[in-house]
Amino acid sequence: MKALISGGTRGIGLACCRLFADRGYQVTALYSRDEGAADAARRALAGVRFLHADVSDEWAVTDVLEEVGAPDVLVNNAGIDYFAQVQDMPLEAYRRVMDVNMGGTFLLCKHAVPRMLSRGGAIVNVSSVWGVSGGSCESVYSASKGAVIAFTKALARELAPAIRVNCVAPGAIDTDMCAGYTPEERRDIEGRIPLRRFGTPDEVAEAVYFLATARYVTGQVLGVDGGGL
Ligand code: NAP
Repeated sequence: MKALISGGTRGIGLACCRLFADRGYQVTALYSRDEGAADAARRALAGVRFLHADVSDEWAVTDVLEEVGAPDVLVNNAGIDYFAQVQDMPLEAYRRVMDVNMGGTFLLCKHAVPRMLSRGGAIVNVSSVWGVSGGSCESVYSASKGAVIAFTKALARELAPAIRVNCVAPGAIDTDMCAGYTPEERRDIEGRIPLRRFGTPDEVAEAVYFLATARYVTGQVLGVDGGGL
């Protein structure tokens, strides 16, 4: 069984790579920029193939699919954030967030689906709690993740019964993406989470694996957020 995981060199994607590899999948993971993290990931997970490919670049995505062939599981995890009030958000930053978070999910699905249709499979998209409720000063990020949820639900109907499509909506997870919080901000966030702590990448990976293998589940959004934010 083959798994293709975008954004696999750090955080949630790296945890997904480890879990799917541990469960016997032949894993290919993508990254776009951070060669140091890619080298560390290669050392940590010798059986996983890490390829440089920007998910917002259609040529790069088609090359990847030609190399990997038909994945049984596609995990669209690559994502970027941008903190700003809307009036301070440069148009270029808006475009980049949308191009990576929603555009990358679209492109990988566009080019993986034709290869997956005849044999079946599962797609798991990584959205965010902000895609459900909206996060202040992350309006564009929230919009991109809301788009991923709508895309998931529509694609689940379009591709059934051959391919199941679901998504996870993580809350605050301890990764590089959350490394910028001050201790005070962190305490404030923890105080608002019913389970009173940040989640771990492994806890999100478990939910991704569940959706990838739950044979009667499609079109769902699974919150992995300690009860909400
Ligand atoms: P992270 O630690 O910053 O890791 C992001 C991964 O995505 C890295 O491997 C990064 O590698 C890759 N990536 C970024 N842009 C890419 C591109 N254009 N093409 C290919 N790979 C790309 O992030 P994370 O916290 O694990 O987040 C993973 C996903 O979960 C994201 O979609 C994020 O929005 C979502 N999420 C995270 C949280 C959280 O609290 N951490 C909460 C909700 C949702 P390069 O930098 O080398 O490209």
